[in-house]
Amino acid sequence: MSEPVLGIDLGTTNSVVAIADDQAIHVLPDEDGYRLIPSVVSFHPNGDVIVGRSARDRRLLDAPNTVYSVKRLIGRPFQSEEVRRARSRFAFELTESHSGGVLVAARSESYTLSEISAFVLREVRRVAEARLGESCTKAVITVPANFNELQRSATKAAGRVAGLDVLRILNEPTAAALAYGYGRGSRERIAVFDLGGGTFDVTILELAGEVFEVLATAGDTYLGGDDIDSLVAEQMAEAFLAHHRYDPRNDRQAYERLRAAAEWAKCQLTNEPEVQLRVEELAYGPGGVSLDLTFGLTRQALEAMATPLLARAFDVCEEAMRVAGVRPTQLDNVILVGGSTRMPLVHRLVEEYFGKTPLADIDPDVVVAQGAAIQGKALATSRAKSRLGKVALRRAEIAQPRISIEEVSTGLAQDPRSAASDKPSKRPPPPPPRAATARPAPPPPPPVATMAKPSGQQLGLPPPLPEAPPLEPIRPSPAFAVGTPSLDMPGFDLPSPEPSADPGLDFGAFDFGAPPAPPTDFEPLTFDAPPAPLTAPEPVVYDVPSEPVAPPLLLDVTPLSLGLETVAGYCEHIIKRNSAIPTEQVRIFSTGMDDQSEVVVRVCQGESRRLEENQLLGEVQLTDLPPGARGSAQIEVTFMLDADGTLSVRAMDLKSGRQQSIRIQLVGGVDESGFEEMQARLEAKFAAPPGA
Ligand code: AMP
Repeated sequence: MSEPVLGIDLGTTNSVVAIADDQAIHVLPDEDGYRLIPSVVSFHPNGDVIVGRSARDRRLLDAPNTVYSVKRLIGRPFQSEEVRRARSRFAFELTESHSGGVLVAARSESYTLSEISAFVLREVRRVAEARLGESCTKAVITVPANFNELQRSATKAAGRVAGLDVLRILNEPTAAALAYGYGRGSRERIAVFDLGGGTFDVTILELAGEVFEVLATAGDTYLGGDDIDSLVAEQMAEAFLAHHRYDPRNDRQAYERLRAAAEWAKCQLTNEPEVQLRVEELAYGPGGVSLDLTFGLTRQALEAMATPLLARAFDVCEEAMRVAGVRPTQLDNVILVGGSTRMPLVHRLVEEYFGKTPLADIDPDVVVAQGAAIQGKALATSRAKSRLGKVALRRAEIAQPRISIEEVSTGLAQDPRSAASDKPSKRPPPPPPRAATARPAPPPPPPVATMAKPSGQQLGLPPPLPEAPPLEPIRPSPAFAVGTPSLDMPGFDLPSPEPSADPGLDFGAFDFGAPPAPPTDFEPLTFDAPPAPLTAPEPVVYDVPSEPVAPPLLLDVTPLSLGLETVAGYCEHIIKRNSAIPTEQVRIFSTGMDDQSEVVVRVCQGESRRLEENQLLGEVQLTDLPPGARGSAQIEVTFMLDADGTLSVRAMDLKSGRQQSIRIQLVGGVDESGFEEMQARLEAKFAAPPGA
C-alpha cells in the first residue's frame, strides 16, 4: 500500500490528524487516547522542547517560555496591528526578524513562527507514525479560508521544516464540507460556520455529488474563543483589583493563570448555568499574605459579554451571503466547526440567523482533519490528481478568462520629477468598493497605471480613491504592563492528565485546587472524575461511503484580492477576491520615465485601493530594460494562483522577452538556508535525549 497522506488540522488551540484508507477515515489519537493535540510548545530549562498536552500544562507554570496561539500571528509582519496586540497580551516575548517577520524569544534562542508550528507538526507526525507504525512524510494541511498568501506560505514552510511534503494547503471549511458531504451524493447548498480559538470563517458551498464548489468565503482572522476568554479574564482582573487593590494584569504569569481560569469557566458554562472558581495565590499582599481570587460567573453573564463580539461573525456571514447571492434561509444545511461552536449562545445565534438548526451529528473538533484526510487520499491517487487539476483549470478558464491587453497608453506615464505633485485624476471616482464582489468577476478595465521605480518613486496618475475603503474594525485589547513573571504556581494542582472521552478541552486536567479555607459564599470547586484511561484507544471511524465513490472535485476561491502597487501608493487589483482558483491573470503596464532601466512590482493582498491598507506580500524586480522613451517598454505582469492559493508572479519586458519569474520573496519569508537551519535545529531538539 502507498504511504498514507496525513490530513492535518493545524489549529490555533489544538491540532488533529486523520488518515483515509479504502475502508474509513481514522482520526489518530495519541498513546493516551487523546485526539486533540494542543498546539502549544514549551521550552524547558533543561533544553527539552515539550509539545502538546504537557506543554499546555506548562503554560501555567512557565508562561514566558510556553508558546501558544501562534496561528493568530503566523505570516504576519511584526509591524502589523495584530502582532502589536499580541505583544501586549501574550506572556512570551515576540521580536522582529531581519525580514520583518515575527520571532519568538524563549530561553535565549529565537524561533520563527513557522518553526514553532513545525514543532507542533512534528509532534502530530510522531503521533501518526506511532499509531500507524510507519513513516509519514506527506500531508494535506488546513488553514482558515481567509488566510492570506503570507500565512499560507508560512504554514507550508512549517510543514516542510517538520519533514512533511505538503501536497495541498486546504481551506478548513472546504475540508469540513468534504467530510460532511463526501459519499452522500447529495445536491445541496450549505454553510460552514467555523469559530475556533482564534479565527472565524464562513463559507458557502454548493455540493453536487462529488463536486464541492465554494460560492463564497469570508472571515475574520481575529475573532475566536480566545477573545471571549480575554473578556472573562478582564472581569476577573477587575474583580481582583476591586477586592485586593492589586491589578493582576501587571504580572504576565498571573494574567496567564487568569486567562486559563477564564477559559475553563467559559467551557464549563457550555454545560452548566453557572460556575464558581478560586485561583489561589494570584498575588501576595503585605507580609507575604497570599491573595486569592474567588469568582462566580453565570452563563447569562457570559452570553451578555460575548454577544457583541459574536455579532461580528454575522456581519461576516452577511458579506458571504451577498457574494454567494443567496439568503441565509435558502441554505439547506449549516455545519458548525471549531471548538467555540460548542457554546449554546453560538448555536442559538446561528439558528436565528440561518432559520434552521445546525447539524448536530458532526464533531466540530475533528471534522476538518477528516476532510483533509479525504483530500489527501484523493491526491495520493494519481488518477484523482490529474482529474482534479483538469476540472479545476477548466472551471477557472470559464470563470476567469485569461486577460491580455495589448494596447497600452503611454500618455499616463509621468516623469518622476513631477510625480511628487501628482494629483488624483479628475475622472469621476468609481463607486465605493463593495466589500465582496460577485463571481465570476467582470474583466477589469484596461490598465491605466505605470510601474513603480525601484527607488520607491511612484509614477503615473493615481486611480481615484474609493470613498470608504473598508477598514478592519479595531477591537479593544486588554492593556497590561510587563511584570516580573513568577515561576511558582501555588494554588494550581496539575495532576498528570487523564484521557477524556470528551474531545473538548479536557479541562478535567485543570484542578484549581481545594482552597485551604472553604469560602463562605460558595462551595469549593469539584470536577467530575475523568473517565478511566483508555488502555488501547481505537481510531475513530467516521462515516464510510458504502459504495466506492469517485474522488472529490474541490472548486475553491481566493479569499482576498491580489494586486500590485501602481502609483503614489495605490493598488491595482489583478485577481479579485472570491475568484475561482487556480487562476492566471495577465496585465500589461508601461514604464513611466525615459530610459527607465528597472521596474519593481510590489505585490499586495487586500481589498483597499491604498497599498498601505493592504498586506504587502513581496516584490519582483525586472532589471536591464533596454533604453527608450517613457511608455515604450511594455511590461507584462502575470499573476498565477495555484490550487493551494499560492501566488507566483512573473514580470516580462515584451520587447526584449526578458523576464523575471519567481515565486515572490515574501515579507517575513524564509530563504533556503533559513529552512536548512530550522530543520537541523528541529531535528536536533527532537533527537536529544530528555534533559540533554
Ligand atoms: P479550535 O481552534 O477549533 O480548537 O477551538 C478552540 C476554542 O474552542 C477555544 O477557544 C476553546 O476555549 C473553545 N472551546 C472548546 N471547547 C469548548 C466548550 N465546551 N465550550 C466553549 N468553548 C469551547
